Amino acid sequence: MNAGTTPTAAEAFAACFAQPPRVVASAPGRVNLLGEHTDYNGGLVLPMALRDLCVNVAIGAGDTPGVIDVYSDIFRDTARRAITEAPSSHWSDYVLGAVKAAATEQVSREGIRIALTANVPLGAGLSSSAALEVATLRALATFYGVEADPVDVALRARSVENDFVGMPCGIMDQFASSVGQPGAALMLDTRTLDHTPAPTLTGHRFVILHSGVSHKLTEDGYATRVAECRAACTALGVEMLSDLGPADLGRIAEIASPLDRRARHIVTENRRVEAGFRALTEGDSATFGRLMVESHASQRDDYEITVPETDLLVETALTEGALGARQTGGGFGGALVVLLATERVEDWSDKMTRAFPATHVVAVT
Ligand code: ADP
Ligand code: MG
Repeated sequence: MNAGTTPTAAEAFAACFAQPPRVVASAPGRVNLLGEHTDYNGGLVLPMALRDLCVNVAIGAGDTPGVIDVYSDIFRDTARRAITEAPSSHWSDYVLGAVKAAATEQVSREGIRIALTANVPLGAGLSSSAALEVATLRALATFYGVEADPVDVALRARSVENDFVGMPCGIMDQFASSVGQPGAALMLDTRTLDHTPAPTLTGHRFVILHSGVSHKLTEDGYATRVAECRAACTALGVEMLSDLGPADLGRIAEIASPLDRRARHIVTENRRVEAGFRALTEGDSATFGRLMVESHASQRDDYEITVPETDLLVETALTEGALGARQTGGGFGGALVVLLATERVEDWSDKMTRAFPATHVVAVT
């Protein structure tokens, strides 16, 4: 065992399958600093791959052709899935989908065994699902000796969610996990996949505070927003909502509710990402914090993906001295990302977690 009581993926594999694995790989979760739900609208996002939160995958040859045996230490559970199976709303769907996307032929011949360990909280808006997909694809590439181009891995991982799991997400999570450098934010244009690293704010930290409310993104809320954005595109005669800019806000206001508000969120959120990237470049923490607060308000009022718990936490976070705070990730609960001067992090975290016992600090980055 390594330090503490958490087994590594290799140890979990050995304990589960009574032999060592052949390959180990990992991939990080991510926190999105600005740009929510813009990714499936061809817009801009500003995520940061996380340094200490990842999913680790250990793999080795299986004993039954066409069969995947997979263990997850989070669920303390093993699943046995045939490569030909359809998704079944089980956690192992993400692994089965990744194997189908990368190694159907090889697994049909000899089967595969996989063990997962992870410290990315599930359903917290920190992208445990993308980390799981990317780590699995990386491990499979090494195991079968094929090149794993990071952008290609991100695209395949997204197709696991879209085409297998049935989650109609954009590319942000998988791109941040596969291409991002842990600890560094990047601005990504999700239409062109152009991306630029963003500097960190000296003297400041982003605190990730779990609200205690977990989402399940394959439930209706997310898919409803995706459908509403498509309907707004039709009403506005554009291919993607990110084809629109601030000059279009007048005609956006004329389409039916709630499509008008959904479109307004996307247009204003794209502008906030641009302004946020500029603020990071200029070291302007006050402006970045203000943009985070505006992003939360837009998620609450226009996109309607916040919950009372995260609204109250954002308000209190600011009263307690944060420069900015917003719900991060797909929505309907999960984590907050909060901007604080470094010297205030400890005191602020103590106050918040004491006042809200359901919360805890997941990471400080
Ligand atoms: P998020 O990606 O924000 O954490 P999602 O709802 O997209 O939330 O994905 C969470 C799901 O991903 C879990 O319910 C589970 O099915 C799967 N998952 C993620 N990490 C693991 C893991 N370590 N072991 C097993 N399943 C996992
Ligand atoms: Mg996810």
